[in-house]
This record gives sequence, C-alpha cells and structure tokens, in this order.
Amino acid sequence: MLPRVILKENFIKKSQQKKITSPANYKERFFELDTHELKYSEIHPPKPPIVKGCIELVRIKCVEIVCSDVPIPCCFKFPFQVYYDNYYLYIFAPSNDCRQRWVRALKEETKHNDLVAKYHPNFWMDGKWKCCKKTEKLATGCHVYDPTGFASEKSLPKLPQCKTIEHNDGAMTLIPLQNYAPLGDNELPLEIDKECVLIDSSNTDWWIVTNSSGETGFVPSTYVAKKSGDDYQRFAWFNKDITRAEAEDLLKTEGREGGFMVRHSSQAGTYTTSVFTKALGSNGEQEPKVKHYHIKQAETGEAAFYLAEKHLFSTIPQLIHYHQHNAAGLITRLRRPASICCPPPIVNSVVVSSFATFATFTDQWEIDPNELTLGKELGSGQFGLVQEGTWRDKKVAVKTMKDKKMSEDDFREEARVMTKVSHSKLVQLYGVCTQCSPMCLVFEFMHNGSLSTYLQARKEHISPGVMLGMCVDVSEGMAYLESSNFIHRDLAARNCLVNHKSEVKVCDFGMTRLVLDDQYTSSMGSKFPVRWSAPEVIRYAKFSSKSDVWSFGVLMWEVYNKGRLPYENKTNLEVMEALNAGMRLLKPRLVPDEVYLLMEWCWKEKPEQRPSFAVLLHELAAIAEPAQEL
Ligand code: ADP
Repeated sequence: MLPRVILKENFIKKSQQKKITSPANYKERFFELDTHELKYSEIHPPKPPIVKGCIELVRIKCVEIVCSDVPIPCCFKFPFQVYYDNYYLYIFAPSNDCRQRWVRALKEETKHNDLVAKYHPNFWMDGKWKCCKKTEKLATGCHVYDPTGFASEKSLPKLPQCKTIEHNDGAMTLIPLQNYAPLGDNELPLEIDKECVLIDSSNTDWWIVTNSSGETGFVPSTYVAKKSGDDYQRFAWFNKDITRAEAEDLLKTEGREGGFMVRHSSQAGTYTTSVFTKALGSNGEQEPKVKHYHIKQAETGEAAFYLAEKHLFSTIPQLIHYHQHNAAGLITRLRRPASICCPPPIVNSVVVSSFATFATFTDQWEIDPNELTLGKELGSGQFGLVQEGTWRDKKVAVKTMKDKKMSEDDFREEARVMTKVSHSKLVQLYGVCTQCSPMCLVFEFMHNGSLSTYLQARKEHISPGVMLGMCVDVSEGMAYLESSNFIHRDLAARNCLVNHKSEVKVCDFGMTRLVLDDQYTSSMGSKFPVRWSAPEVIRYAKFSSKSDVWSFGVLMWEVYNKGRLPYENKTNLEVMEALNAGMRLLKPRLVPDEVYLLMEWCWKEKPEQRPSFAVLLHELAAIAEPAQEL
C-alpha cells in the first residue's frame, strides 16, 4: 500500500550530533509525516528538496512536547521530541497549535509500537537530563508516558469544568499588563487593553478568567491587575512588611542596577517604590544610592496612580509595568524586583531576571576566547568597537563594549535578553564572551554593512521593488519583536544591516537601554535620535511597540530617499517644533502612493491610531506580491 501523507510543515530541528548548543545547530527543515515514515529535507527553491533524514514510524518509542524554561535559541519556540532507536530528535514548532497537531498525529500513528513506559519531559543538555538530572542519556524516563494524551507545559492545577466554577471572586475586572500567548490547551491568551473577568484566584500563580468571548481558562496571575482593590502579594516586586531602612539594606546588599521594590509607606494605605542605582555622578564615578518614590494618587475621581511625572495609571501593577520599561522621571528604569522571599515561580517570557537562569544562559551562550580570532575593525558605534572575526570557521562580527559606557550587569542582562530573540530578519547573536576583557558579543556577519551606508553607496542601482523588499524584511523582524513584547527603541536604517544576499536584518534591539550617557538617553541630548522618535518618546520617554512603528515609518522614508538624513535642513529643535505643529516628512519621489499612506499611518500623533507591525507586514507584503510577478 502506498504511504498516505498526513502532515507537512517547516520546523527547526536541533542537530543530534553536536554537543554544544549554539544557534548554528538549529536548522530549518521541511518535515513530512506519512503513514510509514517521518522525513525531513533541506529546501532551497527552486532546487528540489534534499532529504536529510528519515525515521520509519515503527522505530519510534515516544513522542511528546518538551516542557522547559531554558532559552530556546531559534525563532520557533515550541519544542517536541521524537525518541526512536537510541536517539532523541528535538523539533521546534512555530506555535503551540502546530506542535499539538503534530504530536497528536505522531502519537496516533505510533500507538501500537513498542513504546516506553516513562519518558523525559525536559531536554537532554550539557550531559544530563534537565528533568531528573540523570547523566546517562539512555536512562529510563522520569515521567509516565501517555501515548494518547498530552503532557502539560506547566504543572497547572486542573481546569475545573466551567459549569462547576464557583464565582468566588465576584465579577472582578482584570486588566492585562502584557500580552500572553498560551502554552497549553487550558490557558487563555491575554491582550493588553482587552479586559477579562476573574473567576477563581484560589491558586496563587494561575487564575481562572473569562474573556469577552465567554471563553474560560487559566492565565498567569502576574500578567493581570485587578481593576480595583488589588493585593500585590503575587508580584515579585512587592514586599509587604518591610521598613525603609530594611529596604535600603536589601537593595544595597543585592547591589544590582535598577533593583527595586514596592512597599507600604509609613503613611497608612499608601505605597512607596524604592530603587537602587549606581548611576554615574558628576565626577564620573559610580555612586550607589537608593531612591524612594511615593506612589501618588491624582484627584481625578477615578483611581489614577503616578510616580515621578504625571503618567497616570488606573492600577499600581500597570504603573510598575510601565516604569519597568521607561525611567520617565525616575533615576533609572525599574529593572529587577528585589524580594525578601524566594523568586516567583512564573517568569516573564522575554525578560527573565533570576541568577539561576543566568547560569544556564552563560553555560549555553559562553564562547571560548580561544575559539575566537579577531580581524580588522568594521566600525565604531555608540556602544563600542565592531571587529571582523572568525569563530568555528564562520565569519562573525564581534562587538566589544566601550569602557564605562555600561555596567557589566546590564551588559549580561541585555545579552541574555538577546539570546531569547531569534528570527531570520534579526541579526543573530551567536554568543557572548564574558571571559574576554572587555566583554564582547559575537554576531552573524553581515557582508554589506549598515542599511544607511548601503543605500547611500548604491543610490543608482536600487529599484523601487528592492526598496519595498527592504521594508518588508524590516517589518518582518519587527513583527516578531512586537509579538515577543520586545521594544527596539532605536529603529533606524543605521541600525539595520545588509547581508551578502542583500537581505536586511534588524540589529541593536533594546541596546539603547544600556547606555549610561545622558546625552543619549535624554531627549534634549545631542545624540538622542529625535528624527526617528515618536512625539510621546520626545516628550516623556514613553517607549512602546507603537513608538517603534513611528521609527519604522521614518526608516521607510530613508529607504525611498536612498539614505538621506530625515528633515536634513532642520536642527533637532526645529524637528520637534515641526512635529508639534503637525508637520510630517514629505513624500519621497520614488515611493508608490500606497506605501506613503503606510508611512503617514505610522506617524499618527496618537500611538493607538498607528498600525501594528503585524498589520504593516501584511500590507507591505500585499503591495510587494504583484510587483514581484512582473
Ligand atoms: P552601534 O549600534 O553600537 O552604534 P553598529 O552596530 O552600528 O554600532 O556598528 C558599527 C558598524 O559596524 C556598522 O555601521 C557596520 O558597518 C559594522 N557592523 C556592525 N555589526 C555588524 C555585523 N554583524 N556584520 C558586519 N558589520 C557589522
């Protein structure tokens, strides 16, 4: 009987041979499951696919999702495992739905095989199983294998039947603090601005909620704020019974830049935020200090909290979440919650800040200085020197950090954040070398340098079709960052790079937060990128994905003007005045009307009126499609 094809999909597959985990070991492959085998191939259209591996289904002993909190160094974040013969194949799917579909289908096809009784729910990594710590790769599993059901990504309490849920929390409204993409069937997605109703908060970490479509499921409790009368115990930043002196002691002992907490003020019913900083003093030396900010309430009738400047929030968790991303008047942004008890069990999917995960991070991403050879200088940027280099027979770009421009702590934290993001349209970080002095970051090499110089150098040879392709590339990278709740903060043609295939990729994401230089971070400073900044960023440093969208509009303008400086005849101050008066960049000669309309959409005064990157990508791709067919 001829095999029947069941599923086909592009996944990322981790190499089974190599011991060291680096992004280079993750390869995109086209997978095909039929009734006889699971086959994966390399594809380079228009060439025919080259089959790289094939597993007969009868050899499979277990198929299950992988439950792990280790950073996944590729853009597909949903791993599953296929255990066959004596090998483990790790496959990374782009979404949970897709992963579930494949695991379900594979389980169905292999249910009559000679299966394992127990399996390993976590990865085999660095010579041991991350679940049971056994050091023998073929050691018996530590979890019962269910050949028909699904493993749960987390040990969630079981979701009660909707009918039997007791509304023990009344109809309390919850406001999502950030987006949340569910990892399991019993969870619900959260979207900022889309309120939901609390049904059950009996489990501290996972609350049951109902959304506006009437669906019920679990959400992480630290991702939501109660619209009225919240208790903050579930947040890592809240220390209930701690005095001002104790708070100072704890923050100073930890000594971490941006360490912070919220505590009760001496004035009953009010709260104070205490934050630690080592910001440079006027003498250029670091001066450790703790600052205390009273959380004030504006008299607006409704609850309206604010800290240093009047950015009002209807709940304290919203206010803290905002200042975790924006200093906006505080001495530093609130970076790391300092807690008198243990770290919280749930961590943000992008920014993780516990020491335990840092250890995993360095293990995985540390580059041996002996494997790194440095070559000629490529350029010097805001953050330091960039040199050509070689690492494991690959050409790489090595970025060293300028002395005193940033703290080592920050460097490590941000480098780890970068390891969390991976996409074909983002310049890939290969690893970090913390043993080098100064520390350095090792990136994929981009032969054609920065987009702005590329545009300027090839003025005559870039067609409008190519320009549109460049905008599509950048919007793809940015749509991925947006979906990962990640804000770039300095998107501009100079911060994108071009590779040997003339593909454009975004780089320097999130790096602006690192600079310890007032000239750069203050909107009045000479180095502040006013020409690329949204009005709310210039006025009160309110960064968001929508302020990145504004910058993207300016980047599109740069592309269609072949690398010209935006508002070239104006000073920074004149640019600010022009924006305040409602003026915008003029239509470039070469831009099609429909693309200029998108630019204007990016430059709407109100952030919420601007499109998302997902929408921009969709619109640009739709414009590009017919152009490519000509
Ligand atoms: P910064 O963002 O710190 O100001 P850049 O990242 O722009 O510095 O780097 C300065 C220059 O180094 C760039 O203009 C580019 O020419 C070169 N460069 C940076 N990263 C790479 C890379 N990954 N591959 C090739 N060249 C690079």
